[in-house]
Amino acid sequence: MSLTEFNLIDHFITQRTPIRQDVILGIGDDCALLAVPPGYELAVSMDTLVAGVHFAHDTAAYDVGYKALAVNLSDLAAMGAEPAWVTLAMTLPTINEDWLEGFCAGFFALSKQFNVQVIGGDTTCGPLSITIQIHGLIPAGKAIRRDGAQPGDLIYVTGNLGTAGLALQLGAAAPPEISRYLLRPYPRIKEGLALRDIASSAIDISDGLAADLNHILNRSHVGAKINVEQLPMLNELAVHTSLLHAKQLALSAGDDYELCFTVPPEKITCLQQTLPKNSYHAIGVINQSAILTLQNADGTDFLLTSLGYQHF
Ligand code: ADP
Ligand code: MG
Repeated sequence: MSLTEFNLIDHFITQRTPIRQDVILGIGDDCALLAVPPGYELAVSMDTLVAGVHFAHDTAAYDVGYKALAVNLSDLAAMGAEPAWVTLAMTLPTINEDWLEGFCAGFFALSKQFNVQVIGGDTTCGPLSITIQIHGLIPAGKAIRRDGAQPGDLIYVTGNLGTAGLALQLGAAAPPEISRYLLRPYPRIKEGLALRDIASSAIDISDGLAADLNHILNRSHVGAKINVEQLPMLNELAVHTSLLHAKQLALSAGDDYELCFTVPPEKITCLQQTLPKNSYHAIGVINQSAILTLQNADGTDFLLTSLGYQHF
């Protein structure tokens, strides 16, 4: 490792990361050493953001840093895991200190909020790309998995859908109240933790509701019926697009990072007592059909024109 690389990590990462008591050894050795508390399981996930693929080349460094951590936190949220540690792999075209300042401001704003310590990483030279591996803690057996949905369970989503997708379509024309949903998705950690003993399954919506709900259906060997009229959408969407297109976006656009989860009928009262009333919405029900049916309010089928983001 070159001196500049060492200085860079020390200045930008080691000195800024929150410090946790459960980190025995952090940045600086060949491996980090971590203490998983007795009775807990480790939840591990990784996400990569590539410039020009996951974010536009002219995206502000702050937003890249924020989002790289936010999308990883979102995976922990979907499992009901409490955030703990991350490793950070940065591939940078050059050492640009202004860019790194911005990146760290966004990254550490979120890392401090959720008490996540950077415990190591890797630094390489090449086209801009950020990979984060995140580690969270869950009491043994309490993780909310994709394979637990049962016929009769109600389907819910947090927040609103389709806003990030609209921001992507509008590009530079997107007003800040729309673009912030694409640039700064807020990880639903609080909701994920609250749902540990309530939800039968959960997933975070990164590739569009229809595609991501299908993962729950496949893993749980069930089907679902969604009432498209019940999809929660921001009122501002109507200013920029038709209601029909807004529904298409809500179902198929990625990047919302809201949670989609299922709740057995006997836990619905508990759900209502746990999450604030307007923070989530019922959108449908799990059934035995093995397929996803989209319905309008009058019972006719809703035709989806695109099914989520595909990488290849
Ligand atoms: P090695 O050669 O053993 O893989 P490195 O020289 O790459 O180790 O890194 C030295 C230390 O700095 C390690 O503890 C590593 O985890 C840490 N590190 C390297 N890059 C980063 C980064 N981008 N963010 C955080 N820690 C980093
Ligand atoms: Mg290395």
